[in-house]
Amino acid sequence: MLSASLEKKKQILNYLPLKQKKASFLVELSQELVKLDDPENVFNFLLSAVEQLFPGFDFISLFEFDRKIHQLKLILSRKKKDIPIKEKKGSGIEKWIMRQNSSILIGDIRKDFRFDSSRVEGFIQRDSLSFLAGPLSVGENLFGAIRVESGKENFFSYEDLRLLGNICDLGAVILERARLLRQVEELAVTDSLTSLSLRNYLEDKIKIEITRAKNTNSQVSLLMFDIDNFKEINDNHGHVVGDLVLKKIAKNLKKMEANPDFTACRYGGEEFMLLLADTGKDEALKIAESLREKISDSVVVYRRNKVQFTVSGGLVTYPENEGSFGDLIGMVDKLMYKAKKEGKNKICFLS
Ligand code: GH3
Ligand code: MG
Ligand code: MG
Repeated sequence: MLSASLEKKKQILNYLPLKQKKASFLVELSQELVKLDDPENVFNFLLSAVEQLFPGFDFISLFEFDRKIHQLKLILSRKKKDIPIKEKKGSGIEKWIMRQNSSILIGDIRKDFRFDSSRVEGFIQRDSLSFLAGPLSVGENLFGAIRVESGKENFFSYEDLRLLGNICDLGAVILERARLLRQVEELAVTDSLTSLSLRNYLEDKIKIEITRAKNTNSQVSLLMFDIDNFKEINDNHGHVVGDLVLKKIAKNLKKMEANPDFTACRYGGEEFMLLLADTGKDEALKIAESLREKISDSVVVYRRNKVQFTVSGGLVTYPENEGSFGDLIGMVDKLMYKAKKEGKNKICFLS
């Protein structure tokens, strides 16, 4: 008994320096990770950390979870053998770790009851026998997964499993922070009622586009419009209906943003602006007219009442209409009021 206990102590002593080394590696890792706020940098950093920690690997795959299509996507990999990693959307191993939301150690895939090795791509295509994989997740939020493979059986230990789990947890927390940061940034420039950008965001963009047009000899157009008789809509049908009208118009504008040159914003209470980069006057006028028509054709139905509405706007095109950012805003504002004076449901421009 005594000799067995001594043997165990010796094993622990032998093991301690490695454990200390790994612990200090994790501390260093976290100190570096907290400096990163761009997901791409975090993924690259995690990959090189895993590469350093498991130098005997044959393959490392790093997947990002695409929330829109609810699928993993292979974004980074390292290989010691010249065999491609074909499972670009993850494999059964990733499905398992995502379902269990925990890391996994597979000593020998041929003997692991959880998997049918004849269907594990790593084994079929790359002769890998041991696997180590972990999800990059914080609670319900999944950001990706990391998988390490070796052609040798029982290559990874339970200590390795814990280590990969720690790295994944650290990485996931940093990725979650990056996501929240981006969300806060987006909220700061987005109108909560219409989900359109706010005035400050668009004004910065207009200034950039004017400079770009100046430097590249291109054109940029600016459409500003305001809802006609909106006070009447509010007075006759209530603010809730007024809000529905704002949302309906915003929806039309959002659709325009499918074109990457176009950016829309809620400029004020019932005023909107559309920036048309790289767009000359004739084309901008066509777009503005079609938008005006679409708005005048749409209805908001409320308690069986059909509420119709129109807009009036102004359009300027730089450099045909010469001036600074402030001049152009002044011009487009005047044109909008000209359209109001001339009977509304109209777009005015300088010919
Ligand atoms: P005009 O055709 O000349 O533009 O007249 P108008 O009645 O549209 O213009 P006015 O400036 O008199 O009224 C604008 C109204 O827009 C007043 C304000 O209560 C309303 N409004 C501003 N923001 C909101 C909002 O978020 N929701 C609702 N329901 N109404 C709003
Ligand atoms: Mg107004
Ligand atoms: Mg108005």
